[in-house]
Amino acid sequence: MNVRKTLKINKAGHLEIGGADAVALAQQFGTPVYVMDETYIRDMCSVYRETILKEYNGYGMVLYASKAFSCTAIYKIVASENIGIDVVSGGEIYTAMKAGFPAEKVCMHGNNKTLAELQLAVRYGVGEIVVDSETEIDLLEQLCEEQDKNQNILLRINPGVEAHTHHFIQTAKTDSKFGFSIADGSAEKITKYALTKKHLHLEGYHCHIGSQIFEKQSFALATEKMISFMARMRDEFSFEATVLNMGGGYGIWYTDDDKKSSCADYAEYLHAICDTIKSKTSEYGLRLPFLLIEPGRSIVGEAGVTLYTVGATKEIPGIKKYVSVDGGMFDNPRYALYQAKYTAILANRALEKPCEVVSVAGKCCESGDIVCANVALPVAKRGDILAVLSTGAYNYSMASNYNRNLVPPVILVKDGKADYIVKPQTYDDLIRNDVIPDRLV
Ligand SMILES: *Cc1c(COP(=O)(O)O)cnc(C)c1O
Repeated sequence: MNVRKTLKINKAGHLEIGGADAVALAQQFGTPVYVMDETYIRDMCSVYRETILKEYNGYGMVLYASKAFSCTAIYKIVASENIGIDVVSGGEIYTAMKAGFPAEKVCMHGNNKTLAELQLAVRYGVGEIVVDSETEIDLLEQLCEEQDKNQNILLRINPGVEAHTHHFIQTAKTDSKFGFSIADGSAEKITKYALTKKHLHLEGYHCHIGSQIFEKQSFALATEKMISFMARMRDEFSFEATVLNMGGGYGIWYTDDDKKSSCADYAEYLHAICDTIKSKTSEYGLRLPFLLIEPGRSIVGEAGVTLYTVGATKEIPGIKKYVSVDGGMFDNPRYALYQAKYTAILANRALEKPCEVVSVAGKCCESGDIVCANVALPVAKRGDILAVLSTGAYNYSMASNYNRNLVPPVILVKDGKADYIVKPQTYDDLIRNDVIPDRLV
């Protein structure tokens, strides 16, 4: 197990999260339940904030990529940490607005924002909209004209660096629905076009090269490509970008195959980016751009643990053993989507040594409904509390009501105190929007 100051095993041999006993939490709140550790989230916000201060004179801002985990309370936490957010839908904007999040610290993304979403963003007054198509520029210009408003924009650029976990590649033509490619000339063309728009103020560029990336060289390479593109745009169009958004994607610990987490490692990614910006801008004679970064997973991922209760187990001799829990792909679809790996432990017997390798299965009617495969556990019995670690990102935000299962509640723990930040759903919530047309009555 990794060392993380907010996760430990207490004297009772139980897993403890943010000072709260996981077994007691399971009793009090029921299972399945997502548990989020507030201290971890705040620590990560401050690591990034402080690193920008130290490495870049504070000339930048952290934007929490809220698609990783979105609810009103997280926007409150992030706002109080004095960092911004990135949002990718009307629903995320609405939630942030309801949390009273300062609009000027909001950056809006999406490869196909709807007119309604753009209207909401402009009305709210978001700091920046990251534009990802020519038609979006036209739509936005028209909308701003109608509302007599001006809007700051960034252009989403594909720098031709694609990174996944431990590998990154340089490609001339990346197959992605996101961004204007530097290599094929579309990034240059769209810059020229955006500069002609009266109500749109082009501030600069954005790129995001992937997620769960450990190689800091991939960030350095992407930064290099962005700065050299900025220099070219200055030379061609006398346009000098004042903002550079380098996206997120910093890798976190899920299993011991991943680099062990420590706050210092996260500062290193940013160090690589800042160093490259400084050296390359000085080489090209460019002003230092205001730096934005958008970590999502690394702010909330390791802060989260999902607690389940073990039910049936099934051994298929010579093949594998399934340990079934009371959750599944409806609270965590990541294994079903892309065979995501996790570490699991028995929270009520956390000191016992693992003695077998099992697959943790969910309760959905779908054979691909696996929470995590190949996890080492002591022999699990009905009633044990199983904790899956590092579930703070892309779990609750990807949850569904498949099989009319209820999306689990989310508990926020701090110094041993636990509160709901998302209440349990009820069966009535499931039928709230159901309608029976007259002819069926
Ligand atoms: C998903 C995403 C992020 C956050 O990525 P993480 O891997 O969660 O850090 C940041 N920016 C953009 C544009 C994204 O799509």
